[in-house]
Amino acid sequence: MSKPKAIRSCAFCGLKTEKSKLLRINLPDLSFDFFQNKNYRSFYVCQNAKCIHKVLKKYAVAKHLKTDVKDTGNILLANIEKELSFIITNLFNKGSLEVNNIKDYTNLILCKKSTCLSGENVLSIGEKLYRGSTDVCVVSSKAYSKLLMNYRDIITYIDGLMEN
Ligand SMILES: [Zn+2]
Repeated sequence: MSKPKAIRSCAFCGLKTEKSKLLRINLPDLSFDFFQNKNYRSFYVCQNAKCIHKVLKKYAVAKHLKTDVKDTGNILLANIEKELSFIITNLFNKGSLEVNNIKDYTNLILCKKSTCLSGENVLSIGEKLYRGSTDVCVVSSKAYSKLLMNYRDIITYIDGLMEN
């Protein structure tokens, strides 16, 4: 029997789901906890723009913030973007490959949008999250692969913002 999945609720809308599908944000600095394992007070939020933009106004979150949240606007989104960008850039630095050398897709492949690779194990990354020079990388770590696939919605959203 597999162990039961940990369930958490979004601090804005209250949606209950597996915590791995939500974004964990640490307090009071509002950093995005990619591995969901840092030992800070934290809250969870859905991977969508509405919840991310409004969650800081919720009293349960706002009471832990040091600054007034009125003008924070995109601060949370920017922090999520910064952390994802740092992690994705490191993965590209470690596992970069030529597009022509991608033979099997058993591992997660990260690729720049411009390469037009596609498939179940392919996650395309826009310039907001990776600005380096290589086009493709293979993620050899299962833990990173799983987390990145879980964060697919927010990755797609952040990349989509570029088009506006
Ligand atoms: Zn929500």
